[in-house]
Amino acid sequence: MAMLKKLKLPNDLLTPPSDAAIDELDLELIAHARAVIAKHHRPFWHTVAAALRDDEGRIWTGLHLGATVGRLQICAEPIALGRALLEGGGRIVTSVAVRHPKPDEDDQEIAVVAPCGACRELLADYAPDAWVIVPGGRKMRVATLLPLPYRR
Ligand SMILES: [Zn+2]
Repeated sequence: MAMLKKLKLPNDLLTPPSDAAIDELDLELIAHARAVIAKHHRPFWHTVAAALRDDEGRIWTGLHLGATVGRLQICAEPIALGRALLEGGGRIVTSVAVRHPKPDEDDQEIAVVAPCGACRELLADYAPDAWVIVPGGRKMRVATLLPLPYRR
């Protein structure tokens, strides 16, 4: 036991921070997502927007697609990711999703929401080192949100 205490891990093996406060760039990303859903909101059809930042500082937005057949609905994150992939985006470093409230809800603020389970899996595949902005002014690593991703 005494020998184990003397062992030191090299810096690159230390666990990176998994939780941090959001910063100005994150606020800008949230603002982009909010602008998308404020402009395109349609109850049931478009209720969530997402924004991704790549490592070149570019922002890619997406809009949730509601569908009459529920399982065909598409989240906003894959739409944003597809845009980034098709249009030459770099490595995704931060993701956020925001939700427009339903018309009958008392609080009508467009708020940050945590990604659904499927989008956590998607981010684990395409942006495993990214930060994900979550409610409460915080951001977390994808691996923290999805500690045991599905593997084929
Ligand atoms: Zn989702």
